[in-house]
Amino acid sequence: MAQKARLLVVEDEAAIRSGLVDVFVYHGYEVETADNGDDGLRLALSGKFDLVLLDVMLPGVDGFEICNRIRQQDRQQPVIMLTAKSSDEDIVQGLTLGADDYVAKPFSVTQLVLRVQAVLRRSGSAEDTAREIRLNNGLVIDSANLCAGDIVFTRREMELLQYLSQQADRPVAREELLARVWGYANHMEIETRTVDIHIAKLRRKIEIDASSPEAIVTVRGAGYRLMLGE
Ligand code: CA
Repeated sequence: MAQKARLLVVEDEAAIRSGLVDVFVYHGYEVETADNGDDGLRLALSGKFDLVLLDVMLPGVDGFEICNRIRQQDRQQPVIMLTAKSSDEDIVQGLTLGADDYVAKPFSVTQLVLRVQAVLRRSGSAEDTAREIRLNNGLVIDSANLCAGDIVFTRREMELLQYLSQQADRPVAREELLARVWGYANHMEIETRTVDIHIAKLRRKIEIDASSPEAIVTVRGAGYRLMLGE
């Protein structure tokens, strides 16, 4: 990395906050912190960070609202949520608001560093993969700009579309998507549901009728298949 990646850590618990600073400074990152939601929001919207590590429960504006506000301003800003517990509701809400990933507390520092590196790698390489994805329903997706006309996609949704489009001759299993798109080697039940949540969100964006999908079809027992057009 030519220049140090800049991280913003928004976390109100002093011990966790200083621990994160130590770890990421040790790994060569430049780190700024906020200990409450209001400062966190202001800094997160400054646009000067390569990645935002965002606690959910914060004094002032909470992490979900900060994530929401970041997404309104910049769909490409990498965000990882630190969820207080691996409760499904927290995770589902975080993903719906467009976080790139989440890490459940108590987290392993090694795992967190790997997740940060993975998200930064993907955000860096996303710019190199400029191409169109043409679906069988006529929709043309501009993968470089994360959109199709007025429809906008999160980077994760685009990665999912890109991977499915590269494998469009076959259905792709959830486990493979978790491994190749999310980088999760060992999946759990909650994580396979993560795939389904993202597919459901994508269908609402790209299908003519999301209740009878024709662009992303479910192949029973095999996974999801993206149907490309001419
Ligand atoms: Ca907290």
